[in-house]
Amino acid sequence: MTLKTIISFITLSVVIELCSAQCGCTQKGIKISNFNVGDMVLSSQDVLRINGFKAAQGVHWPNKLLRYTFDPSYPDKNKNAIREFLKIYEKELGNCLRFLEEKSDVYATVVLGGGCSANVGYNKNYPLSITLPDPCVNRRNVKHEFTHLLGFMHEHTRPDRDQFLKIEFGNVHSGLCNNFYLCEGCKLTTTYDFDSIMQYPSEAFSCNGKDTILKKNGGKIPFNMEVTKLDAKKVRDYYGC
Ligand SMILES: [Zn+2]
Repeated sequence: MTLKTIISFITLSVVIELCSAQCGCTQKGIKISNFNVGDMVLSSQDVLRINGFKAAQGVHWPNKLLRYTFDPSYPDKNKNAIREFLKIYEKELGNCLRFLEEKSDVYATVVLGGGCSANVGYNKNYPLSITLPDPCVNRRNVKHEFTHLLGFMHEHTRPDRDQFLKIEFGNVHSGLCNNFYLCEGCKLTTTYDFDSIMQYPSEAFSCNGKDTILKKNGGKIPFNMEVTKLDAKKVRDYYGC
């Protein structure tokens, strides 16, 4: 065994040990401990909603208009791509609502940042933002984050998810357990959608590379790129279209 091999082995062992020490959630312990859950930046009202209280009023965007602007420092090269994705998304939603870019009186700002994230729902008393750095400017992430802003959580947090999914809690990174809370206050108007743009793939939040989210029959869930008919129905139902 060469020195290099030994060092690699020791490094690998340490990594494995670290990983295994950071694996696992107890279902009971899953609750919102702070205001950031995965790519969702939540206001205190959102947290109340997630914990099963009645949805706060005003979480719908008024007049079916999501009014946004780009932060002055946001790079021009990304803006047209985002505008295009949103135009397509409007059509996919059957023109139920509009994403309106405005200069003033806006409530959501597109900003650069370390990862893709967004606030959940409208809240006029809270500065809303969508964080879209370069790697997030693609059709999936732009629509996914704007869907959060429209008021939606991840598909795997639906209150009925345990009828459809098997969550392998032992493979979930201990620091990411709050991604698996159940949205007890969320109203459902569609059947479970494995293909939803709001559904995470099987290996999401894994501490060890093993699957965390599987279909009840053991089937894997891929990384979904497209808005489905059920996604569109969900948004249209929520906005009364
Ligand atoms: Zn998300």
